[in-house]
Amino acid sequence: MRLLEGKPIAEKIKEEIRQAVSKLSRKPVLASVMVGDNPGADAYVKSQARIAENLGIEYRFQRLAADSTENQLIDFIKELNSDSSVNGIIIQMPLPQQIDYKRISQFIAPEKDIEGMHPVNIGKILFGKANILPCTPAAVMELLKETGVDLYGKEVVVVGHSEIVGKPLSLLLLDKFATVTVCHIGTSKAGKLEGHVKNAEILIVAVGKAGLIKGEWIKEGAIVIDVGINRVGDKIVGDVEFDEASKRASWITPVPGGVGPLTVTILMRNLVEAAKLQQ
Ligand code: NDP
Repeated sequence: MRLLEGKPIAEKIKEEIRQAVSKLSRKPVLASVMVGDNPGADAYVKSQARIAENLGIEYRFQRLAADSTENQLIDFIKELNSDSSVNGIIIQMPLPQQIDYKRISQFIAPEKDIEGMHPVNIGKILFGKANILPCTPAAVMELLKETGVDLYGKEVVVVGHSEIVGKPLSLLLLDKFATVTVCHIGTSKAGKLEGHVKNAEILIVAVGKAGLIKGEWIKEGAIVIDVGINRVGDKIVGDVEFDEASKRASWITPVPGGVGPLTVTILMRNLVEAAKLQQ
Protein backbone atom coordinates (compact mmCIF):
# COMPACT_ATOMS: atom_id res chain seq x y z
CA MET A 1 0.00 0.00 0.00
CA ARG A 2 1.23 3.49 -0.83
CA LEU A 3 -0.04 6.59 0.88
CA LEU A 4 -1.41 9.13 -1.59
CA GLU A 5 -0.60 12.45 0.05
CA GLY A 6 -1.75 15.81 -1.25
CA LYS A 7 1.03 17.99 0.10
CA PRO A 8 3.91 16.94 -2.20
CA ILE A 9 1.62 17.32 -5.23
CA ALA A 10 0.48 20.73 -3.96
CA GLU A 11 4.12 21.80 -3.70
CA LYS A 12 4.73 20.82 -7.34
CA ILE A 13 1.64 22.72 -8.49
CA LYS A 14 2.70 25.76 -6.44
CA GLU A 15 6.02 25.83 -8.29
CA GLU A 16 4.13 25.78 -11.61
CA ILE A 17 1.90 28.60 -10.36
CA ARG A 18 4.94 30.75 -9.41
CA GLN A 19 6.37 30.23 -12.90
CA ALA A 20 3.04 31.13 -14.53
CA VAL A 21 2.68 34.24 -12.31
CA SER A 22 6.17 35.40 -13.28
CA LYS A 23 5.10 35.35 -16.95
CA LEU A 24 2.00 37.52 -16.42
CA SER A 25 2.18 41.19 -17.31
CA ARG A 26 0.91 42.16 -13.87
CA LYS A 27 0.32 40.60 -10.46
CA PRO A 28 -2.93 38.58 -10.50
CA VAL A 29 -5.65 39.68 -8.07
CA LEU A 30 -8.02 37.44 -6.13
CA ALA A 31 -11.04 39.20 -4.61
CA SER A 32 -12.35 37.41 -1.55
CA VAL A 33 -15.71 38.41 -0.10
CA MET A 34 -17.08 37.47 3.30
CA VAL A 35 -20.47 38.47 4.67
CA GLY A 36 -20.40 38.91 8.45
CA ASP A 37 -17.83 36.98 10.43
CA ASN A 38 -17.23 33.44 11.51
CA PRO A 39 -14.10 32.26 13.37
CA GLY A 40 -13.66 29.14 11.18
CA ALA A 41 -14.03 31.09 7.95
CA ASP A 42 -11.73 33.85 9.26
CA ALA A 43 -8.99 31.28 9.84
CA TYR A 44 -9.56 29.87 6.34
CA VAL A 45 -9.30 33.35 4.80
CA LYS A 46 -6.03 34.02 6.65
CA SER A 47 -4.58 30.79 5.34
CA GLN A 48 -5.78 31.58 1.78
CA ALA A 49 -4.20 35.04 2.03
CA ARG A 50 -0.88 33.57 3.18
CA ILE A 51 -0.81 31.02 0.37
CA ALA A 52 -1.74 33.66 -2.23
CA GLU A 53 0.98 36.03 -1.06
CA ASN A 54 3.52 33.23 -1.12
CA LEU A 55 2.63 32.58 -4.78
CA GLY A 56 2.85 36.22 -5.86
CA ILE A 57 -0.94 36.70 -5.96
CA GLU A 58 -2.61 39.81 -4.50
CA TYR A 59 -5.37 38.78 -2.08
CA ARG A 60 -7.99 41.53 -1.80
CA PHE A 61 -10.29 40.80 1.10
CA GLN A 62 -13.59 42.59 1.63
CA ARG A 63 -16.01 42.00 4.50
CA LEU A 64 -19.64 43.04 4.05
CA ALA A 65 -21.97 43.64 7.02
CA ALA A 66 -23.66 40.52 8.45
CA ASP A 67 -27.11 41.98 7.66
CA SER A 68 -26.30 42.65 3.97
CA THR A 69 -29.10 41.64 1.62
CA GLU A 70 -28.74 39.31 -1.34
CA ASN A 71 -29.09 42.28 -3.68
CA GLN A 72 -26.34 44.20 -1.89
CA LEU A 73 -24.00 41.24 -2.30
CA ILE A 74 -25.00 40.88 -5.97
CA ASP A 75 -24.27 44.59 -6.55
CA PHE A 76 -20.87 44.14 -4.95
CA ILE A 77 -20.16 41.09 -7.13
CA LYS A 78 -21.12 43.14 -10.20
CA GLU A 79 -18.64 45.84 -9.18
CA LEU A 80 -15.91 43.21 -8.94
CA ASN A 81 -16.95 41.78 -12.32
CA SER A 82 -16.45 45.14 -13.96
CA ASP A 83 -13.20 45.94 -12.13
CA SER A 84 -10.59 44.94 -14.69
CA SER A 85 -7.88 44.71 -12.03
CA VAL A 86 -9.72 41.75 -10.42
CA ASN A 87 -9.02 38.37 -12.04
CA GLY A 88 -10.98 36.03 -9.79
CA ILE A 89 -13.73 36.17 -7.18
CA ILE A 90 -14.45 33.87 -4.26
CA ILE A 91 -17.40 34.17 -1.90
CA GLN A 92 -16.54 32.75 1.50
CA MET A 93 -18.85 30.30 3.22
CA PRO A 94 -20.87 30.15 5.37
CA LEU A 95 -23.20 32.92 4.25
CA PRO A 96 -25.87 34.35 6.53
CA GLN A 97 -29.33 32.79 6.24
CA GLN A 98 -30.81 35.57 4.11
CA ILE A 99 -28.35 34.82 1.28
CA ASP A 100 -28.69 31.84 -1.06
CA TYR A 101 -25.25 30.88 -2.37
CA LYS A 102 -26.66 29.09 -5.41
CA ARG A 103 -28.45 32.26 -6.50
CA ILE A 104 -25.67 34.75 -5.90
CA SER A 105 -22.90 32.57 -7.35
CA GLN A 106 -24.58 32.80 -10.78
CA PHE A 107 -23.74 36.51 -10.79
CA ILE A 108 -19.99 35.98 -10.74
CA ALA A 109 -18.72 36.47 -14.31
CA PRO A 110 -17.83 32.98 -15.62
CA GLU A 111 -14.31 34.15 -16.51
CA LYS A 112 -13.76 35.23 -12.88
CA ASP A 113 -15.42 32.14 -11.34
CA ILE A 114 -12.28 30.50 -10.00
CA GLU A 115 -14.29 27.91 -8.05
CA GLY A 116 -15.50 26.59 -11.40
CA MET A 117 -19.11 26.36 -10.26
CA HIS A 118 -20.84 28.79 -12.64
CA PRO A 119 -23.22 26.89 -14.97
CA VAL A 120 -21.13 28.05 -17.94
CA ASN A 121 -18.00 26.48 -16.46
CA ILE A 122 -19.83 23.31 -15.40
CA GLY A 123 -21.33 23.13 -18.91
CA LYS A 124 -17.86 23.34 -20.46
CA ILE A 125 -16.86 20.21 -18.51
CA LEU A 126 -19.64 18.34 -20.32
CA PHE A 127 -17.98 19.19 -23.62
CA GLY A 128 -14.44 18.51 -22.33
CA LYS A 129 -13.61 22.20 -22.89
CA ALA A 130 -13.22 23.57 -19.36
CA ASN A 131 -10.22 25.74 -18.50
CA ILE A 132 -11.39 26.27 -14.92
CA LEU A 133 -12.33 23.13 -13.00
CA PRO A 134 -14.13 22.89 -9.65
CA CYS A 135 -11.39 22.61 -7.02
CA THR A 136 -12.20 19.33 -5.26
CA PRO A 137 -12.85 17.24 -8.41
CA ALA A 138 -9.67 18.73 -9.92
CA ALA A 139 -7.78 17.75 -6.74
CA VAL A 140 -9.01 14.16 -7.10
CA MET A 141 -7.85 14.08 -10.74
CA GLU A 142 -4.38 15.31 -9.65
CA LEU A 143 -4.17 12.55 -7.03
CA LEU A 144 -5.11 9.94 -9.65
CA LYS A 145 -2.49 11.34 -12.01
CA GLU A 146 0.13 10.89 -9.27
CA THR A 147 -0.59 7.14 -9.08
CA GLY A 148 0.22 6.82 -12.79
CA VAL A 149 -3.02 4.88 -13.39
CA ASP A 150 -4.46 4.84 -16.90
CA LEU A 151 -8.17 5.56 -16.41
CA TYR A 152 -9.13 4.16 -19.82
CA GLY A 153 -11.70 1.39 -19.27
CA LYS A 154 -11.18 1.27 -15.49
CA GLU A 155 -14.10 0.49 -13.17
CA VAL A 156 -14.39 3.71 -11.16
CA VAL A 157 -16.97 4.06 -8.43
CA VAL A 158 -17.81 7.54 -7.11
CA VAL A 159 -19.84 7.59 -3.90
CA GLY A 160 -21.71 10.90 -3.43
CA HIS A 161 -23.37 12.91 -6.21
CA SER A 162 -23.18 16.46 -4.92
CA GLU A 163 -22.88 19.39 -7.29
CA ILE A 164 -19.47 20.39 -5.93
CA VAL A 165 -17.81 16.97 -5.90
CA GLY A 166 -19.49 13.80 -7.22
CA LYS A 167 -21.32 15.09 -10.30
CA PRO A 168 -18.53 17.18 -11.87
CA LEU A 169 -15.96 14.51 -10.93
CA SER A 170 -17.92 11.81 -12.73
CA LEU A 171 -17.84 13.93 -15.91
CA LEU A 172 -14.06 14.44 -15.64
CA LEU A 173 -13.59 10.68 -15.24
CA LEU A 174 -15.87 9.93 -18.19
CA ASP A 175 -13.79 12.30 -20.26
CA LYS A 176 -10.84 9.97 -19.59
CA PHE A 177 -12.92 6.95 -20.74
CA ALA A 178 -13.27 5.42 -17.28
CA THR A 179 -16.36 3.27 -16.70
CA VAL A 180 -18.01 5.40 -14.05
CA THR A 181 -20.61 4.25 -11.54
CA VAL A 182 -22.05 6.99 -9.35
CA CYS A 183 -23.54 5.83 -6.03
CA HIS A 184 -25.67 7.94 -3.71
CA ILE A 185 -28.26 7.66 -0.99
CA GLY A 186 -30.57 5.69 -3.32
CA THR A 187 -27.81 3.09 -3.87
CA SER A 188 -27.38 2.70 -0.11
CA LYS A 189 -31.10 2.50 0.55
CA ALA A 190 -31.42 -0.22 -2.10
CA GLY A 191 -28.68 -2.16 -0.25
CA LYS A 192 -26.40 -2.04 -3.29
CA LEU A 193 -23.51 0.15 -2.09
CA GLU A 194 -21.34 -2.75 -0.90
CA GLY A 195 -21.69 -4.58 -4.23
CA HIS A 196 -20.62 -1.56 -6.25
CA VAL A 197 -17.72 -0.70 -3.93
CA LYS A 198 -16.44 -4.29 -4.07
CA ASN A 199 -16.23 -3.98 -7.84
CA ALA A 200 -14.25 -0.72 -7.84
CA GLU A 201 -10.72 -0.67 -9.23
CA ILE A 202 -10.76 3.00 -8.25
CA LEU A 203 -12.98 4.19 -5.43
CA ILE A 204 -13.69 7.84 -4.69
CA VAL A 205 -15.87 8.64 -1.70
CA ALA A 206 -17.35 12.08 -0.99
CA VAL A 207 -20.23 11.71 1.44
CA GLY A 208 -19.39 12.99 4.92
CA LYS A 209 -20.24 9.87 6.98
CA ALA A 210 -17.45 8.30 9.01
CA GLY A 211 -17.11 4.56 8.48
CA LEU A 212 -19.66 4.42 5.63
CA ILE A 213 -17.27 2.35 3.51
CA LYS A 214 -16.14 -0.79 5.31
CA GLY A 215 -12.46 -1.68 4.91
CA GLU A 216 -13.33 -5.26 3.91
CA TRP A 217 -15.33 -4.00 0.89
CA ILE A 218 -12.18 -2.67 -0.79
CA LYS A 219 -11.05 -4.69 -3.80
CA GLU A 220 -7.51 -6.03 -3.56
CA GLY A 221 -5.17 -3.47 -5.26
CA ALA A 222 -7.79 -0.72 -5.58
CA ILE A 223 -6.94 2.98 -5.51
CA VAL A 224 -8.94 4.67 -2.77
CA ILE A 225 -9.52 8.43 -2.59
CA ASP A 226 -11.42 9.54 0.47
CA VAL A 227 -12.75 13.09 0.15
CA GLY A 228 -14.91 12.92 3.30
CA ILE A 229 -14.12 15.03 6.34
CA ASN A 230 -15.73 13.99 9.61
CA ARG A 231 -14.99 15.01 13.15
CA VAL A 232 -15.10 12.00 15.48
CA GLY A 233 -14.23 13.02 19.05
CA ASP A 234 -11.06 15.06 18.70
CA LYS A 235 -10.03 13.38 15.43
CA ILE A 236 -10.72 14.12 11.77
CA VAL A 237 -11.49 11.00 9.74
CA GLY A 238 -12.74 10.24 6.25
CA ASP A 239 -15.67 8.11 5.04
CA VAL A 240 -13.59 4.95 4.53
CA GLU A 241 -12.40 2.69 7.37
CA PHE A 242 -8.75 3.51 6.84
CA ASP A 243 -6.88 0.77 8.73
CA GLU A 244 -8.70 -2.16 7.16
CA ALA A 245 -8.91 -0.50 3.71
CA SER A 246 -5.17 0.20 3.67
CA LYS A 247 -4.45 -3.55 3.97
CA ARG A 248 -6.13 -4.07 0.58
CA ALA A 249 -5.64 -0.85 -1.37
CA SER A 250 -2.64 -0.23 -3.66
CA TRP A 251 -2.93 3.52 -2.96
CA ILE A 252 -5.02 5.30 -0.35
CA THR A 253 -5.35 8.94 0.69
CA PRO A 254 -4.90 9.78 4.37
CA VAL A 255 -7.54 11.97 6.03
CA PRO A 256 -6.48 14.62 6.78
CA GLY A 257 -3.63 15.13 4.31
CA GLY A 258 -5.03 13.69 1.07
CA VAL A 259 -7.46 15.82 -0.93
CA GLY A 260 -7.54 18.74 1.54
CA PRO A 261 -4.06 20.24 0.97
CA LEU A 262 -4.68 20.32 -2.79
CA THR A 263 -7.97 22.21 -3.02
CA VAL A 264 -6.70 25.67 -2.10
CA THR A 265 -3.67 25.22 -4.37
CA ILE A 266 -6.02 24.42 -7.23
CA LEU A 267 -8.07 27.51 -6.43
CA MET A 268 -4.88 29.56 -6.90
CA ARG A 269 -4.06 27.70 -10.11
CA ASN A 270 -7.56 28.56 -11.38
CA LEU A 271 -6.95 32.21 -10.52
CA VAL A 272 -3.75 32.30 -12.53
CA GLU A 273 -5.43 30.47 -15.42
CA ALA A 274 -8.26 33.04 -15.31
CA ALA A 275 -5.70 35.88 -15.29
CA LYS A 276 -3.90 34.36 -18.28
CA LEU A 277 -7.15 34.08 -20.24
CA GLN A 278 -8.13 37.66 -19.36
CA GLN A 279 -4.74 39.12 -20.25
P1 NDP B 1 -22.97 16.85 0.31
O1 NDP B 1 -23.62 16.66 1.64
O2 NDP B 1 -23.38 17.94 -0.59
O3 NDP B 1 -23.13 15.49 -0.52
C1 NDP B 1 -23.02 14.23 0.09
C2 NDP B 1 -23.39 13.18 -0.92
O4 NDP B 1 -23.39 11.91 -0.30
C3 NDP B 1 -24.79 13.37 -1.49
O5 NDP B 1 -24.71 13.09 -2.86
C4 NDP B 1 -25.62 12.32 -0.76
O6 NDP B 1 -26.69 11.83 -1.53
C5 NDP B 1 -24.61 11.21 -0.58
N1 NDP B 1 -24.94 10.34 0.53
C6 NDP B 1 -25.43 10.68 1.75
N2 NDP B 1 -25.58 9.57 2.51
C7 NDP B 1 -25.20 8.52 1.74
C8 NDP B 1 -25.12 7.14 1.95
N3 NDP B 1 -25.50 6.59 3.12
N4 NDP B 1 -24.71 6.35 0.95
C9 NDP B 1 -24.32 6.87 -0.24
N5 NDP B 1 -24.35 8.20 -0.50
C10 NDP B 1 -24.78 9.01 0.47
O7 NDP B 1 -21.42 16.89 0.61
P2 NDP B 1 -20.18 17.42 -0.28
O8 NDP B 1 -20.16 16.73 -1.59
O9 NDP B 1 -20.11 18.86 -0.21
O10 NDP B 1 -18.99 16.83 0.61
C11 NDP B 1 -18.85 15.44 0.85
C12 NDP B 1 -17.77 15.22 1.89
O11 NDP B 1 -16.54 15.70 1.36
C13 NDP B 1 -17.98 16.01 3.20
O12 NDP B 1 -17.45 15.25 4.26
C14 NDP B 1 -17.14 17.25 3.00
O13 NDP B 1 -16.71 17.80 4.22
C15 NDP B 1 -15.99 16.69 2.22
N6 NDP B 1 -15.30 17.67 1.38
C16 NDP B 1 -13.95 17.72 1.48
C17 NDP B 1 -13.23 18.61 0.73
C18 NDP B 1 -11.75 18.62 0.85
O14 NDP B 1 -11.12 19.58 0.50
N7 NDP B 1 -11.12 17.55 1.35
C19 NDP B 1 -13.89 19.56 -0.18
C20 NDP B 1 -15.31 19.35 -0.30
C21 NDP B 1 -15.98 18.45 0.48
P3 NDP B 1 -28.13 12.59 -1.47
O15 NDP B 1 -27.85 14.04 -1.81
O16 NDP B 1 -28.91 11.90 -2.50
O17 NDP B 1 -28.60 12.44 -0.06
